[in-house]
Amino acid sequence: MNGTPSKITKVIFFISFLALIDNQCLAFDYKGLHWNNRIVSFYLWNPPSAAVIQAHNKSAATWNNAGANFYFLPESTTSNIPGVRDFKNVIGGANDPYFQENPDAAAFTRCWPTSVGSTIWSECDTVMNMNDPISTSGDPNAYDLESISVHEFGHWLRLGDLYSTGVPGNVMFWSLSLGEIRRILDIDSRNGIIHIYGPR
Ligand SMILES: [Zn+2]
Repeated sequence: MNGTPSKITKVIFFISFLALIDNQCLAFDYKGLHWNNRIVSFYLWNPPSAAVIQAHNKSAATWNNAGANFYFLPESTTSNIPGVRDFKNVIGGANDPYFQENPDAAAFTRCWPTSVGSTIWSECDTVMNMNDPISTSGDPNAYDLESISVHEFGHWLRLGDLYSTGVPGNVMFWSLSLGEIRRILDIDSRNGIIHIYGPR
């Protein structure tokens, strides 16, 4: 791996507010930021289809069933635009300026701590790139929404991207190919959420 993405892969980016400190002995990446509350609600930007709602709810349930003391709670839809600091955790497509500088990103997660320098999250939004083909039904020429959602929720938890070629089945692997399905939680990511939030 030379670090250059091939044309069939797209990076799922994450904006971090901390300097990089690697957990070399762990098969997940965690740098200390976390939620204090153990139930974190999320809203879908209007107007999601039933299939989109189901994809995100299944993704949330995947993490909720990991055995950790942490839960994503689906809320109603909202007209609040994702990617903007509004104290509401919103997921949806938007023409965020981030995509102008990172057109290869299929989605990204942007989080805000409670205050500058704090290690406690108070809001996370996930923004989908509306220029990318997204599918909820395994279309080989589109990115699988539930797979993206599982990955981005991992960033909400504050698991970082993994770049090792030895972990392509890990939901926190940094890139996803067209048509690739990666919805099932791997053991490393399961250990990661339990490490951060404790067992249930
Ligand atoms: Zn990522």
